[in-house]
Amino acid sequence: MDFKKYIRDIVNFPKQGIVFKDITPLLKNAEAMHSAANSLFNLIQDKKIDKVVGLESRGFLFSPLLAVKLGAGFVPIRKPGKLPSEVISTSFNLEYGIDTLEIHKDSIAPGDRILLHDDVLATGGTAEAACKLITDLGGEIVQCNFLIELDFLNGREKLSEYTIASLIHY
Ligand code: IMP
Repeated sequence: MDFKKYIRDIVNFPKQGIVFKDITPLLKNAEAMHSAANSLFNLIQDKKIDKVVGLESRGFLFSPLLAVKLGAGFVPIRKPGKLPSEVISTSFNLEYGIDTLEIHKDSIAPGDRILLHDDVLATGGTAEAACKLITDLGGEIVQCNFLIELDFLNGREKLSEYTIASLIHY
């Protein structure tokens, strides 16, 4: 399927100068949604996954679907102050400023085999921070899996020690 037909560019969102890839046309189309979920699943070579870790918030759209298909659990990584129990946090640099991500301390057991999923790999800062949280808890990252990868931002350089797979490349 030509997924790019279902992804639109929104200029100057969320800030001036940014061209935002909007996946809502793909999500609202039953055939495209079904095909995207199956294709993301097919990108995973090693299906022995204990937990799919999804990144707030658009990473939550496909992560539980992949978890069900893999017979795995789902674990959210969230922005600060959203998770109710004990967390570990990590902060990372954005183009302007700093951001923080959190995960529940008890969400991953040492040795758990993890699939990390997010909607977009851009500069890689978010995924790199997420990988740090997962490995700090003792998780083994089997793959980082993205719906869209913005190749020109070289995000995968920050994730060079992991296996990366993306469905749609720009
Ligand atoms: P990075 O940290 O620069 O790789 O940015 C990745 C994060 O920003 C992901 O969690 C994405 O959801 C979000 N993001 C970056 N660019 C876009 C975009 O064009 N469309 C949708 N989300 C984006």
